Formats: sequence, structure tokens, C-alpha cells
Amino acid sequence: MTTAKDIVGTMTAPSAEESAFVEKAYEFSKKAHAAHTRYSGEPYFVHPSAVAKVLAEYGMDATTVAAGLLHDAVEDGCIPREEVEKEFGKELLFIVDGVTKLGTHKYRGAERHAESLRRLLIATASDIRVLIVKLADRYHNMQTLEHVPAHKRRRIALETLEIYAPIADRLGMGKMKSDLEDLAFPFVDPDAAAHTAELRKLKTKETETGLASVQKELQRELAKKGLAAFRTDIRIKGLWSLHQKLKRKDDDITRIHDIAALRIIVPAIADCYAALGAAHALYKPLPGEFKDYISFPKPNGYQSLHTTVVTPEAGIVEIQIRTEEMHRRAQFGIASHMSYKQLGKGIEKLEKDAQKRRFSSLSFSWIRSLIPSLMKVSKGAGRTKDAAPVPPWLAELVEAHSEVAGSEEFVEGLKEDFFSHRVFVFTPQGDVVDLPAASTPIDFAYAIHTDLGNHLQGAKVNGKLVSFDTALSNGDVVEILRRESAHPSSKWLEYAKTSLARKQIRAALGLGELSRQRRRMRAR
Ligand code: MN
Repeated sequence: MTTAKDIVGTMTAPSAEESAFVEKAYEFSKKAHAAHTRYSGEPYFVHPSAVAKVLAEYGMDATTVAAGLLHDAVEDGCIPREEVEKEFGKELLFIVDGVTKLGTHKYRGAERHAESLRRLLIATASDIRVLIVKLADRYHNMQTLEHVPAHKRRRIALETLEIYAPIADRLGMGKMKSDLEDLAFPFVDPDAAAHTAELRKLKTKETETGLASVQKELQRELAKKGLAAFRTDIRIKGLWSLHQKLKRKDDDITRIHDIAALRIIVPAIADCYAALGAAHALYKPLPGEFKDYISFPKPNGYQSLHTTVVTPEAGIVEIQIRTEEMHRRAQFGIASHMSYKQLGKGIEKLEKDAQKRRFSSLSFSWIRSLIPSLMKVSKGAGRTKDAAPVPPWLAELVEAHSEVAGSEEFVEGLKEDFFSHRVFVFTPQGDVVDLPAASTPIDFAYAIHTDLGNHLQGAKVNGKLVSFDTALSNGDVVEILRRESAHPSSKWLEYAKTSLARKQIRAALGLGELSRQRRRMRAR
């Protein structure tokens, strides 16, 4: 069992006050879950305490670590929300509520809805810390998935693979992403997972000794160049990501050169290029395989130099070169900036760094994507019933940005932003469908299937019959009643907001481009 000491000891330099806060949450959660057990038969408290430990490892602040301890206390521990707020404050309750809310959106394997669900989760979270707690929660649940009833395992594993791992990737949390993928893979496709594991084992064995001597040779060369403070390690490619790459390369393992990559971690950016020079002096690089993600970071902020060289000892080898700071960020992503007392400051720093190093602003578009939905809430006269309170750091960020001169790009981005123009609604099965704002049941029906639209007889929203011009709102469950004899009318064209629905209605009414041509032909 993870102890309070384990958790506090893993946190990044907590103050006495912060330690006490986490310890209090620990005791509180332990009591709240005392009566429950996990599927594994272990005490339930094993779970929240493990989640809190993960959050501490990721360098999260005391509030978030404590929220990890209490994330199931309201829903499963049956503690009144008021009590959590009284004992631990509004901010913590906000995170716990957010995590609970995320749990209500489930992925049931309709791949065309996967991106909608990812976006919905990011929008619902409205505070990055909510997403990070949810990821830590999922990470621990995946580690104990074999105890969950068999019929639930696949759904949970698939959801982890399709929804949560990509979100971790978007947050730049590389370690979380590949951990989640490799925990889920065997439950989603046991045969492929076993096959890939076997291939990887064979291949790594083959190159192991060769790689070790390449590693030594490189170390010698770097030391010769006066690079003293560096370390190297060998990183083995994740199973799921190897599986994906194999699929792209016609299952030909000889075409994959980064199963085992050599990593060189140095103190400063200049050292990265010096190390690259040393590597290229020693081994011939493959042309076209060099990538400078330091000057051109990936959209999620990932930075590194990648090169592929030919070595006499180990054949073709990928070398990745980065600074300690880049290494930490590649593993922990946004979470690596969370040791700041105030998250707002952390993001400010991120943005300043970005300007200094001329990062593309794309790197932060996901943070910004959390802003418009909140702006709507704070500017709206009355809050809608389930609108989240605006966390102060984000509100500040929004204000700071609206004052910055020359931030047209940002304002433009807000206008264009996905969330301010979309509604997310559900099928009775719980699949999420995203539609433009003010969409109606007609748009919904056509988004599901043309045939469903063409035979739309009636629609229920949250169990109640509604008229076809009803504007759908976020979270509505929409059920379409179909009848063979029902057909579109021209009135529907006024109600439909999506071009897809309009096109299909026009076609069904004989007003489409095709039918017009046909009529012209007939007239001749
Ligand atoms: Mn949980």
C-alpha cells in the first residue's frame, strides 16, 4: 500500500503546509473508502493512493495530488461534495468534479466519433489538471485491468488506446502515452501484441551487443570533444508504436531502424549539435533521415535531434540527442511545468519561451482551446446550469491575452475555434456526435446515416419528443424515430444547419445538381 510518506516524499519540494494538506487528504480518503474493495479483492484505497503517487511523480502541485487521493471519494466513497469543499476548498472540488464528469463520457468503439470524443473530453475538462488526474487514474486502472470482468476489459482498453493515449500525446506526455498504449494493446489485440513482442525481442537480442559497443564508442568520442557532462541510454520502442510502424512498412521489420535507439542527453542546446557532429564524424548518416525537432518542435512541443547512422557493430541505428530539460518535457509534457505554484505563471512562461525560441504558436493551441469555452461562461449573463466555474488562472490568462497588442493571430484563433461553434450530443448508445452550433435533429439524423435522415419521422431529446427545428445543446441525448413512409419536406431545408443534411435533403427532394441534370436530359 502506498503510504502518505511515499506520496509526500515523491512530491517536488512541498512546503510543510502542502505536505499537511496531502496527508490530511490521505487520511480522509482512506476513511471514505474503508468499506470498499477493488475487483482484485484489495482495499479500494490502494487505487486513489497509487493515483496520487503517479501525480506526485509527474511533479503536480499539492492540490492536484490531494485531488488524486479524493477523486473517487464523492462518487464511490459517498462523501457529500459540500464536505469535500469545506475540508479541502473549492479548487480541489472543482478538479474532483471534473474527473467525475469525464468518466460519464464513454467510448464504445465507433472510430468516426473518436476525435469528437477526444475534443469533448478536453473541452469538458476545462482545466488541464482535471485531464492529468484522469490520465493518472486511467494509468493505474490499466495496470490492474486483468481483475476487471472480461466483458468490460476490451472496451476500457480500446478507450485507453483510442482516446486517452492520444490526449496524453497532445499534452506532450510521451511516457504516459506509451505506457497507456502498451498496457492496453494486449487486451485489444492479444495475437498482434504477442507477435510484436516476439519480433521486438528477437531484433533487440540481435543488436544488443552491437548497440552496447556503439554506445561505448560514442561515449569515448564525446569525451574527446570535451563533452563531459552527458549521459546515454538505450530506448526500446513501445509495442503499440512498433505495431503501428510495422503496419506502415508491410510487416517488414528490417525496414524499421528505431526499435532500439541510442539516446544522448546533454546539458545545453549547443551540446546537442556538438554531439550530433561527433556522431556523424564517427558514423555515416543515412541521407534524408536527419530531423531537427529542436529548431522545429513537434506540435505537442517535443524537441530532440534525430539522426539515423550506419554502424559496423549494430547496423542501422537511430540516435536521439536532447537536453535534460527536453528529456523531462518529452516524458512529462505539460505536467513538467506544473511545479509552478500557479499554473497561470507556468503557461505564461511556456508562451514566453516559445516566443524566445520562435516556437510555432501551434504548440500551445490546445491550451488556448480550453479558453473560449470558459470565456463564454464568464461573459454570459447567467451561468448555465452545469457550467464549470472559471479557474482564476485561466481567467487571468484570457484577460492577459485580450490586452496584448498584435495578438491578432490569437483573436483570430478564438473566432475560428472549434469549441465555440460546436455542440456535442449523444446517440442513445452514448456515441458522441459533434455538430455546428444550433444544429437540429435533422442534422443529427443525417450525421448518423443518410437513410436515417431520409426516413426521419420524429425525434426525442433527452427522452422527450421535440419539433424538427429544435436547436440541440451540449450533452443532449438524441433519439431518431424512423419510418419507411416518412420523407423530407422542403421546410427541412430551413431547419438544417449542416451542408451535409442540406445536400441530402435537396437530393431527396429532387433539387440536387444530379437530378437537375437528369431533368434537363429528359426535357430534351
Ligand atoms: Mn478512479
